[in-house]
Amino acid sequence: MIIAIPRETVPGERRVALVTESVKRLVGKKHEVVVESGAGLGAECSDEELRAAGARIESSAAAVYGAADVLLKVQPPTPEEVSLLKSGSVLVSLAYPLANPKLARAIAGRQVTLLAMDMVPRTTLAQMMDVLSSQATIAGYRAVLLAAEALPKLFPMLMTAAGTIPPAKVLVLGAGVAGLQAIATARRLGAVVEAYDVRKVVKEQVESLGARFVNIEIEDAAGSGGYAKELSEEAKKKQAEALAVHVAKSDAVITTAQVPGRRAPLLLPADMVRRMKSGSVVVDIAAEQGGNCELTRPGERYRTEFGVTVIGEKNLPSQLAVHASAMYSRNLEKLLAHVTDKDGALKLDASDEIVKGMLITRGGDIIHPAVADVAL
Ligand code: NAD
Repeated sequence: MIIAIPRETVPGERRVALVTESVKRLVGKKHEVVVESGAGLGAECSDEELRAAGARIESSAAAVYGAADVLLKVQPPTPEEVSLLKSGSVLVSLAYPLANPKLARAIAGRQVTLLAMDMVPRTTLAQMMDVLSSQATIAGYRAVLLAAEALPKLFPMLMTAAGTIPPAKVLVLGAGVAGLQAIATARRLGAVVEAYDVRKVVKEQVESLGARFVNIEIEDAAGSGGYAKELSEEAKKKQAEALAVHVAKSDAVITTAQVPGRRAPLLLPADMVRRMKSGSVVVDIAAEQGGNCELTRPGERYRTEFGVTVIGEKNLPSQLAVHASAMYSRNLEKLLAHVTDKDGALKLDASDEIVKGMLITRGGDIIHPAVADVAL
């Protein structure tokens, strides 16, 4: 099977779908791996290293797309990239087909089979292929470093001859994968951490990381598959009132809250941010999904006129491209192992739970029922 890795073309994307170590292992399993020249540079995988690992380096994207039995990507393909896809090939990539059914339709139109990495079921069996989790882990860590860097204060408590410095107060909103990693990172830096989530089941996880869980007496919003449901209007109001107190006393607020298939919930209205101390920081990991903070400008970092720095940088995993790529690549390897037989041939069994969840297009059609529904 020929596995092809193009260079990512979305501006600012430094990750690569397969890193050198994975290439070596896949070549060892008798796959042919074709990589576009420079594809790994952002993740510190040079053409020379990839070649030494057994990859064939091609200088043009067209040659890489044209060679692929299976094309592995990070970002959803751009229209130009869709036009390069080879009929009959399989594309494995982030694709967000529920939010962007048009792209799924275009891929189907190219007679290309799409496995969407963002649709891997969140089950124990699929954990090793779960790129949403691996990349959210990186984003949670990175967000805290951004906050620490922007905050004109120390994170840890210091008792020195020059006086005692109190620890920074960090509030993490949303304690899913990214939020838990943010809590752990802020704790390691010595901050005093509070966290809040609408799913009360995470209280224990938050506390096990040494943070305090903010209890707000509203309905539990645990939905299916471990995700959250949207709150009622009354609960939203109660939540905002309770959170305002915690936000006002925090030096840094890291927001990570998301509800699948919806705009990210608004947790920090402008007036709540206005009540934070000058110099405080908000890092909004949900910036790409509309943001949890009303003042977030997606893709930007700026200081408001009242002195709070609001960071809405996008694609935080790409800022740590070496490990983000290594984890993404491992997830892909596990997926490939799951969908190939012992001779290394691709076998997509649509009745398999994992394949069923992420198989979006096949034979020129959108075959995933939920995506087919939104694509109508
Ligand atoms: P996510 O990115 O969809 O959301 C992040 C967090 O925001 C969630 O914890 C959610 O409850 C929270 N949230 C939503 N609305 C909120 C609001 N109004 N206020 C405060 N918080 C709000 O979630 P995720 O991080 O991808 O994961 C969600 C769950 O799925 C977690 O429980 C995680 O452990 C579970 N999960 C399980 C597996 C597995 O079993 N293999 C894999 C990954 C994730």
